[in-house]
Amino acid sequence: MEDRETIITISDVLEYLFCPRFIYYMYCLDIPQHEEQRFKVLKGREVHETRRMTNQEYVRKKLYCIRKERSVFIASRENHIKGIVDEVLFLEDGTAAPLEYKYAEFKDKVFKTYKFQLVLHGLMIKENYNIEVNRGYICYIRSNNLVKQIDFTPSDFMKGVEIVESVIDIIDKGEYPKTSRNLRKCIDCCYRNICV
Ligand code: SF4
Repeated sequence: MEDRETIITISDVLEYLFCPRFIYYMYCLDIPQHEEQRFKVLKGREVHETRRMTNQEYVRKKLYCIRKERSVFIASRENHIKGIVDEVLFLEDGTAAPLEYKYAEFKDKVFKTYKFQLVLHGLMIKENYNIEVNRGYICYIRSNNLVKQIDFTPSDFMKGVEIVESVIDIIDKGEYPKTSRNLRKCIDCCYRNICV
């Protein structure tokens, strides 16, 4: 992807994973989402709660963390992506791991959006700190700050890069993405009146 100029954000990836057509409507047709759109409301609440509940000096000894950096802005030249990592944990075994706070309850499985957000954060940490990253953590604020570990495989990183490429393809080529219309998502989607 080195020869491309478009750089996307982690938020773009989350929107793409929610529905690929969001990217098309926002970037190719320049139709912004409404302020009240569900995703952004949730995101805002999440950030607010993260700030309120995070103890700045707290180091997660149970995760074998020896040092951490908070709210790290990070970008990848190689993979054309940028974003803010809630925490970069430096672990006893010499590796690093991203940790993300979610204003959510843990309900038996980790959502794909959460997983690939972490995977892409991991990719950027590897590139910027030149350190191995083989796992990440999600802290579920509404489940009493339950922390879940997600192990990364090489194919997770490859899949993460493919997702970024797909988002950039939509933006650069202006191709209208296929999507399986999902009633649950479409019903309160701000693009439902123009989406065919
Ligand atoms: S209406 Fe459905 S398919 Fe169309 S953009 Fe919204 S969520 Fe995606």
